[in-house]
Amino acid sequence: MSLKEIVGQRFQAEFGADPASIVRAPGRVNLIGEHTDYNDGFVFPMAIERATFIALRPRADNKVVAISLDMDNRRAFALDDLQRPTETEWIDYLIGVAWSLQERGYDLRGWEGVVSGDVPIGSGLSSSAALELATARAFYEVSGFAWDAAAMALACQAAENEWLGVKCGIMDQMISAAGVADRALLIDCRSLETASAPLPPDTVVVILDTNTRRGLVDSAYNERREQCEAAARHFGVSALRDVAGETFARREQELAPLMRARARHVISENERTLRARDAMNAGDAVTLGQLMIASHISLRDDFAVSSPALDAIVACANAQDSCYGARMTGAGFGGCAVALVKADQVEQFVARVGACYQDATENESIITVTGASRGAETVFP
Ligand code: ADP
Ligand code: MG
Repeated sequence: MSLKEIVGQRFQAEFGADPASIVRAPGRVNLIGEHTDYNDGFVFPMAIERATFIALRPRADNKVVAISLDMDNRRAFALDDLQRPTETEWIDYLIGVAWSLQERGYDLRGWEGVVSGDVPIGSGLSSSAALELATARAFYEVSGFAWDAAAMALACQAAENEWLGVKCGIMDQMISAAGVADRALLIDCRSLETASAPLPPDTVVVILDTNTRRGLVDSAYNERREQCEAAARHFGVSALRDVAGETFARREQELAPLMRARARHVISENERTLRARDAMNAGDAVTLGQLMIASHISLRDDFAVSSPALDAIVACANAQDSCYGARMTGAGFGGCAVALVKADQVEQFVARVGACYQDATENESIITVTGASRGAETVFP
């Protein structure tokens, strides 16, 4: 049974009627453009086929009653009495979205429904953004305001930043809101302008989860941010986005080696991300793959955010003839890599990379093949 059918049937069992609507919002993977978002640069994610679904109907009062199939419990809250989280649990994401929408002047109505998703939680595919955007879409269904993907993304990002207390850029919410089938979405993190481009013909995207996580991510992340800000100050600009490749080539010796390497990653990654758009628009999988390989090397050597597990799985992927290119994706130090693979050879790719990674690390990977899906939407009626 599909998730849509599961939430629909469970709604029927819990509430004794068919749902008025079923909504979904996807997780995401970033194809290229890593550690560029907080430098006002470019990111290039796509929405994946894994998503969070909510089956729901409006309520006459101002309550939200939600049942999580994945957490196996029922929670309720009133729209005029939103409580700040103490120990965050799943319902706080719904409350946070309600808070953020109301802060922005949306007039919300209550609803009751059933929530379930298949975006793995905490593995870097942004199950939180999927839950937030599905919640926003549920409110849209019952409240009758206009759906604007960018406005919804900003409201959900504010919920995550200001209600859940999680620092994140706009990428996750924007791609979950505005994803386009079979296409990736270039996001300008300064202007928030977006432009979609097609995945190359006869390719699929494969997500390679190393099954490793590392605790140092936060402190390393803050350190990288500070190094980037310092480099931007050196060049007299507000963000490294504004340093052209030629300017950097001419003046890089002015920077100390460590800061020079950090800046080189960001400046070159922005260029690669824009070239990736051109490659996609030309249907050029070979060039796109090469840009992904170069991105990994830059993240590993200049930005120093890879890990032995990530390097191992990327090497296993790049060793396959069926692979155009692979790189780490996300903040780094563990988590997932992403590969662009020939569609007709993907089964063999998955088997070989899984075995290769196991040989190299004695660790089991989790490998997911996905196309690019649509952003938040109503799937029923
Ligand atoms: P991720 O990297 O997957 O976004 P986060 O820690 O940011 O991980 O968010 C995960 C949290 O989001 C979960 O702990 C849970 O509270 C909530 N969540 C995500 N998906 C679901 C779901 N399908 N059902 C209930 N809660 C969910
Ligand atoms: Mg998250």
